[in-house]
Amino acid sequence: MENMDVKGRIFDIQRFSVHDGPGIRTIVFLKGCVLRCKWCCNPESQEWDIQKMTMGGVTKTVGRDVTVREVFDTVRADMPYYKRSGGGVTLSGGESLCQPDFAVALLKACKEYGMDTAMESTGCADYAVISRYLPYLDHYLMDIKHMDSRKHEAFTTMPNDLILENAKRIARDAAHLIIRTPVIPTFNDTPEEIGAIAEFAASLEGVSEMHLLPYHQMGMDKYAGLGREYLLPDITPPSKEHMDMLREVVRSKGLRTQIGG
Ligand code: SF4
Repeated sequence: MENMDVKGRIFDIQRFSVHDGPGIRTIVFLKGCVLRCKWCCNPESQEWDIQKMTMGGVTKTVGRDVTVREVFDTVRADMPYYKRSGGGVTLSGGESLCQPDFAVALLKACKEYGMDTAMESTGCADYAVISRYLPYLDHYLMDIKHMDSRKHEAFTTMPNDLILENAKRIARDAAHLIIRTPVIPTFNDTPEEIGAIAEFAASLEGVSEMHLLPYHQMGMDKYAGLGREYLLPDITPPSKEHMDMLREVVRSKGLRTQIGG
């Protein structure tokens, strides 16, 4: 295999996940993101720099440089589980589009080995970059967070124009595109806001599925651990009843849906 010595920067690898794609999966978390979502539960993913994070009195280093070969060898170890469950590898982050040479080489190695491949992504990059990934991806799990560009920018630091344009192109070119929406109180949790995203998702070529990911506070303590302020301290996770209602809104637009990734 080529390009096994390409280096990238990751901050975690989680084995035996049943989220973020079908079956049992290994999730590789890459460092670096172009957005700064106020609710982000992985704030240690956002900066490219290797950082220190203190949690429960213990300080750990977040981020390490690895080769494609090192990650591939870790991922490959669970091939029997993937085969039995229909699982595989998922790139997450952060945003994998920030490290195209590394991420594409890793996906290519996994695909050539016969693995199912997925990527969680905002799609916020030049399409020439995104198109490099598509031949090696079985599932593109794409976040659409809001249809109003100004509100999108207020909560993520970036407008959504490029993301929505790329969604149309990815729908046309990707093997399998699933739209995912984090449901964030005060940002996008009304039936109108979720309905607008679902209508857009339903209009995309070949897209039949949209997942709703309820806001949670599990990443909150990491902000203090990184010496940062958490910007949404006053919101609470949506209730089950509210999520059920939003799920029906998505269904009413003709999409299959689920709560959680
Ligand atoms: S796109 Fe994802 S990783 Fe990046 S800041 Fe937003 S929630 Fe965090």
